[in-house]
Amino acid sequence: MIFKENRYMLFVVFYVLKEEFMSVATDELIRKAENTHCLSKEEIVKLLALPDEICPSLFAAADRVRALHAGNDVHLRGLIEFSNYCKNNCCYCGIRRDNNKLRRYRMMPETIIASARKAAECGYKTVVLQSGEDAFYTIERLQQIIREIKKYNLAVTLSIGEKSFDEYKAYKEAGADRYLLRIETTDKELYHRLDPGMSWDNRKRCLDDLKKLGYETGSGFMVGLPAQSLASLAEDILFLKRLDVDMAGIGPFIPHPDTPLKDVEGKAFFLSLKTTAVTRLLLPDINIPATTAMEALHPQGRIMALQCGANVIMPNVTDLERCRLYKLYPGKPLPSFSIEEGRKETEALVRSIGRRVGAGYGFRSKKNQ
Ligand code: SAH
Repeated sequence: MIFKENRYMLFVVFYVLKEEFMSVATDELIRKAENTHCLSKEEIVKLLALPDEICPSLFAAADRVRALHAGNDVHLRGLIEFSNYCKNNCCYCGIRRDNNKLRRYRMMPETIIASARKAAECGYKTVVLQSGEDAFYTIERLQQIIREIKKYNLAVTLSIGEKSFDEYKAYKEAGADRYLLRIETTDKELYHRLDPGMSWDNRKRCLDDLKKLGYETGSGFMVGLPAQSLASLAEDILFLKRLDVDMAGIGPFIPHPDTPLKDVEGKAFFLSLKTTAVTRLLLPDINIPATTAMEALHPQGRIMALQCGANVIMPNVTDLERCRLYKLYPGKPLPSFSIEEGRKETEALVRSIGRRVGAGYGFRSKKNQ
């Protein structure tokens, strides 16, 4: 009996000591990330593996680093999803070529320009032009769209996929300021399985070209892809750091019912928050959007991301009907009745957590370089 009790006591003491040791080690790791912005792959994995109840200290550290290096402003970018035609067939994406259940649309250049103008009138300083890879928009057409939009004193971000160096150069010359191209995953094997007919090396080449051309370059990845390990996510974060990206878009993978990945479980909300926080710790001064996919999985998703390291929101300024058709994944939050209203709602959201809407263009501040 006494032996049994002693054994129980020993177990309790061991358990308490183990927990204590783990929490000291975790605090130490978070402190290291906060102060040096450098972690090894193994250390990143440890943070990504933290149980949800320990996450608040990770999130708080990311929030402090965001405040110190990127400031309190939340930058708003008006998102125009101008075409859902795509020549690619990414297995995760709802607008993939083979999804023949989707009604396709493309906005005419003058409609895109009018949307950008409206966004500028509502106070936006940046518009993001996003689409599938749609050959309708020739270099000349896009150049003309960019040139017209620049007349409204807007910063222009493009997110239109893989192009040649010369195409990127042409858009830059027309006035484009930034470019978003997620690497999706740095696990080449996984990439080639999920993006049939595409080449990881070409996607990386695109990012290198964009940097060479002087774009503010954004990349990023999805969290919770099938067979994606924590080690793979750690590699993704280190990839963004090595590339010295100016922006990082990180969001949970959400299975779309009309894609080959429809039966995969997609519940990586908390893991996406942790990944966002670690990315902020390692890339202290970059712009990190609170992605729409976060909101799709949790009603407070964007607010939570803003408190875990994010500092950008991209409200949709596309009209409701097209926004519905630009369905990369299910559950996408739809924009408000009007752009003005959407802007007001977003401003109120930002103020509700004691932050400010940035009045400027919100380029990367590069404070620590
Ligand atoms: N054609 C452009 C835009 C792609 S769509 C390009 O190649 O960059 C924008 C992003 O949506 C993608 O880069 C991908 O990371 C994300 N996405 C696509 N399908 C998704 C899904 N099912 N769940 C979550 N994110 C998804």
